[in-house]
Amino acid sequence: MKKENPKKAGNGEKKPEKPVVKSPLTKAETEVFRKWLVDRREALSGNVQKMEDEALRRSRQDASGDLSSMPIHMADLGSDTFDQDFTLGLIENEEEELEAIEEALGRIEEGTFGVCEECEKPIAKERMKAIPHAALCLDCKKKEEDGSGG
Ligand SMILES: [Zn+2]
Repeated sequence: MKKENPKKAGNGEKKPEKPVVKSPLTKAETEVFRKWLVDRREALSGNVQKMEDEALRRSRQDASGDLSSMPIHMADLGSDTFDQDFTLGLIENEEEELEAIEEALGRIEEGTFGVCEECEKPIAKERMKAIPHAALCLDCKKKEEDGSGG
């Protein structure tokens, strides 16, 4: 049972209107996910703020050149730069997750939470439990990863 990709439909065909796909989750289930997402959003926005502060403070310390209070050796410079990159990398990931969570909360409002954005099939509940903000089903996620760079 494979649904045809509407993007590949011929020119003569009328473009099908996007069907309203109902969330496969019950209200109670959605509520559990909503609470989880809201909690996670709070925790993440706190984290991102803290890490940004930390990363900024460090780069200011570097720029101040206060050698007496903070001796800088070549080795330290290297590791510190690495550490900062790492922190900034974490911020990026968490900001991405935050965005995904915002979108997931939006889908809850629309009543399409738990529906794959690509193929519009219900996303497996196991996947939703592992990644509540997942926007794609496992198949589409795999396709996206395979097709990267195309
Ligand atoms: Zn899908």
